[in-house]
Amino acid sequence: MEKVYLDYSATTFVDDAVLEAMYPYFKQHFGNPSAVYASGREAKAVVENARQTIANMLNTRFKNEIYFTACGTESDNWAIKGAALANANKGKHIITTSTEHHAVMDTCAFLEKQGYEVTYLPVDEYGMVSPDDVQKAIRPDTILISVIFANNEVGTINPIPEIAKVAHEHGVLFHTDAVQAAGHIPIDVMNMDIDMLSLSAHKFYGPKGIGVLYIKNGCKVEKFMHGGAQERKRRAGTENVPEIVGMAKALELSCKNMQKEIKRLSELRDYMIDELKAKVPHIHLNGHPTRRLPGHVNVSLEYIEAEASLLSLDLAGIECSSGSACASGSLEASHVLLAMGIPTEIAKGALRFTMGKTTTKEQIDYTVAEIVKLSERLRKISPLFIQKEGEKKYV
Ligand code: PLP
Repeated sequence: MEKVYLDYSATTFVDDAVLEAMYPYFKQHFGNPSAVYASGREAKAVVENARQTIANMLNTRFKNEIYFTACGTESDNWAIKGAALANANKGKHIITTSTEHHAVMDTCAFLEKQGYEVTYLPVDEYGMVSPDDVQKAIRPDTILISVIFANNEVGTINPIPEIAKVAHEHGVLFHTDAVQAAGHIPIDVMNMDIDMLSLSAHKFYGPKGIGVLYIKNGCKVEKFMHGGAQERKRRAGTENVPEIVGMAKALELSCKNMQKEIKRLSELRDYMIDELKAKVPHIHLNGHPTRRLPGHVNVSLEYIEAEASLLSLDLAGIECSSGSACASGSLEASHVLLAMGIPTEIAKGALRFTMGKTTTKEQIDYTVAEIVKLSERLRKISPLFIQKEGEKKYV
């Protein structure tokens, strides 16, 4: 079997149609959108066209609510720091969750050092945030609520419209990190009543290094990059024209094929989960059983550290990721799994398989067969498993 790529949540390849759309803007039409002569005006028109496409896909009121950034991380940083700075006179309290991506977590931690207070909401066993908990955490000095749309590690989809409603009943700004959701599940910022939303093109078959922050007109958010007059003087820096074009094309294509892909990938996801549960003992599904991203599987193999599983899978040509992060040479359990109440030793065995355009049933069968093999082999040499089996024999 050729290489099996099951890490689409980490990044995707660039779609052929996207590459084709970008190509002319590297050399043939390379004008600076700020220039007043013809090639500059042409580049400006192309950028505005892409902005309109993205605005249509997200259902914003106006296209000028779409701001181009360099990545999802930048969009998250801008939303949170921008809201914190612009609203400091009203209060310095921010609400987020304990399962955010580091782009949000670390930005909040930075603000704590600047004198802001941050409430990190708990989640349930599936990694879901409760609108009731959001409501209870709101204080008179709360200025921002930021909740991840769909979790990158476990795929759980949060009740975003309900949380936005709670925020607005209290006059608080609402931001969502939709980096894993955009292009994969429906997003409608107007009907979901979202004030700010982050997305990143390389998660939906667009290029790396380009993202969007949607900011609803009227929201008080400080500018991010200081310099030129680009992006309505709020995010300076010459526009990345080819990538902006590519991102718009990629989002348009993803939205066009979305319903078909949701059906295909949800079926493959559920098939993989069923097969794993049937064939691998001591396996634990992480995340919500149904309210999860299509094509997103996260399981813990008990008694086996994820690093060992990843190495075995890599040798078998399977690329996936673990739920652990390497911190100073040792594997640390993911903060997301720990927040869901999963014991450290189970969290350390977590593997994430995320599917996309090239994923087939044959690849899933091959992957499940390899997991069966590696779990049998590694458990034979796992001190934890040997001890557990020994205990069973002598009781
Ligand atoms: N937020 C989430 C939920 C993500 O999954 C990621 C990337 O994996 C990011 C933010 C950061 O996006 P980028 O890689 O574009 O900086």
